[in-house]
Amino acid sequence: MHLKSLELHGFKSFPDKIKLTFNKGLTAVVGPNGSGKSNISDAIRWVMGEQSTKNLRGAKMEDVIFGGTQMRKPQGFAQVSITIDNSERRIDMDCDEVTVTRKLYRSGESEYRINGNHVRLKDIHEMFMDTGLGRDGYSIIGQGKIAEIISSKSTQRREIFEEAAGISKYRYRKAEAQKQLDLAYENLLRLRDILSELE
Ligand code: ATP
Repeated sequence: MHLKSLELHGFKSFPDKIKLTFNKGLTAVVGPNGSGKSNISDAIRWVMGEQSTKNLRGAKMEDVIFGGTQMRKPQGFAQVSITIDNSERRIDMDCDEVTVTRKLYRSGESEYRINGNHVRLKDIHEMFMDTGLGRDGYSIIGQGKIAEIISSKSTQRREIFEEAAGISKYRYRKAEAQKQLDLAYENLLRLRDILSELE
């Protein structure tokens, strides 16, 4: 599974629509300080559902939208699409390519799509779970991340190994099932109350 392309439009320092294509093997992004190298990895984090503005190096989510320069007006939205090769079916979808798109308007309205279809953020998180690109994945190692992993609690460190071993999906499903069970139990209690009132 490899990253095939990344399309940015109105994201941080990229006001115009641009498409970066990645070949197999190693890709290095080089450029002067402040030219937007880190903004590219921010775009990858963002399109995969990142919700932490701190991880995106901003104060509020709107900061990902091109804010304008002396020469250009600000943009009204930011949009990023990532296309991943899925010929090995590492993502549980029956298609050779998976494109995920995230769009955010200045009004705060946002949308997520998978292969053009509107989805919820939850669907994106579930799709990437156990692929190594999951929310607590290890696919993007930012500055200071290694030190953070070494000094983190063993339970937090375990999450990284669980994502790599492909079991975080099962832990997530177990928690979801437990929530449903708790809900069903509450409903049963309520039903018993009503029954005893009727009797
Ligand atoms: P370095 O090599 O110093 O780490 P870099 O190439 O990684 O730099 P980035 O941090 O990716 O650079 O980009 C910083 C630039 O992005 C700054 O010039 C900043 O003004 C610009 N930038 C960030 N957010 C926005 C935004 N919302 N609108 C316009 N420009 C932005």
